[in-house]
Amino acid sequence: TFHAGFEPGHPPVRVCLGAGVRAGIGAEVVTLGLSRALVLTTPQQAAQGEAICAQLGALAHGLFSRAAMHTPVEITEAAVEAARGADCIVAIGGGSTIGLGKAIALRTDLPQIVLPTTYAGSEATPVLGQTANGVKETLRSPKVQPEVILYDPELVATLPVGLTVTSGLNAMAHAVEALYARDANPLSDQLALGGLRAFREGLPRVVADPGNLAARESTQFGSWLCGTVLGAVGMALHHKLCHTLGGSFDLPHAETHAVLLPHSAAYNAGAAARELAPVAELFGGSVSGGLYDFAAALGAPLALRDLGLAKADLDRAADLAVKNPYWNPRPVERDAIRALLQRAWEGARPQ
Ligand code: NAD
Repeated sequence: TFHAGFEPGHPPVRVCLGAGVRAGIGAEVVTLGLSRALVLTTPQQAAQGEAICAQLGALAHGLFSRAAMHTPVEITEAAVEAARGADCIVAIGGGSTIGLGKAIALRTDLPQIVLPTTYAGSEATPVLGQTANGVKETLRSPKVQPEVILYDPELVATLPVGLTVTSGLNAMAHAVEALYARDANPLSDQLALGGLRAFREGLPRVVADPGNLAARESTQFGSWLCGTVLGAVGMALHHKLCHTLGGSFDLPHAETHAVLLPHSAAYNAGAAARELAPVAELFGGSVSGGLYDFAAALGAPLALRDLGLAKADLDRAADLAVKNPYWNPRPVERDAIRALLQRAWEGARPQ
């Protein structure tokens, strides 16, 4: 029974999934009634951007290949200049490149066509994080939700195995937190469980054979479900801790999610036992132990100390993580958070 009712809030988005769908990029631009696409990438993926420009031919306005982690506003301003005369954005890359496209859309209202190459899920959310003067702020606006998503497994197949694993665990973290979200609803539960199932089944196959396009496609389907649920309901302790460690200690995004997921699940396992029961069933044993064993078997990093966090920073990290109160199934208590961080720093298996 849904006493309070719920709003499924489907984003009005067009999604294509399958090997080779990027060949349809020009048709997508034309279908939107547009003709001059600014292509975005990071410097590392500029060659992929050039290939898309070549494919777009006369529909390409140009390539801007300076997308960077945390969407710094200086880069967005340069990109908005580069977008003068363009009538749409084509972003090819992970959350950093997609974030730049969203930041341009916020300022210009240009429509976005996105070709994701990681599993982070930003393409499926109306959320943008951007950094000004070293401070990262997050906003939510329908303006930043991309209009078209093309999931092409051939593009994600170039993602190195290490980042494949951590990015997959990053996506799974959206789903785990969605299950116990305060505003969870029957649709978000199904999205989250579908996403977890897709990664449970697909990620080990992708690690065993990174070029297996059918397995890549399963994981991209999971990424879409997990990204959609990230945009649909509120996140809690896990995302807050990752935001704190990424923002204040410069830890890498996907790796931090990967290390913390079993520990934040352990923290909430008692308070959200009913909501997390399907996760325990899917991964075996206890919810946190099952997630830890899954990550370990895939060769994921398991300890914050291996990501470059100093032991001396754990106290400050705990202080920062409890500074601004937020909702979580179990109350967020400083000493318990400090203990969680200690275990995650050591890489100990949670019970
Ligand atoms: P990323 O986009 O920073 O990519 C990491 C590196 O991998 C980059 O150098 C990139 O060029 C490279 N790369 C990506 N795909 C590749 C591929 N297929 N082959 C080879 N190299 C590839 O990493 P990410 O984890 O996808 O994104 C993290 C960022 O996205 C963070 O800033 C995070 O806050 C943001 N994010 C935002 C949302 C949202 O809803 N707003 C959701 C998830 C993540």
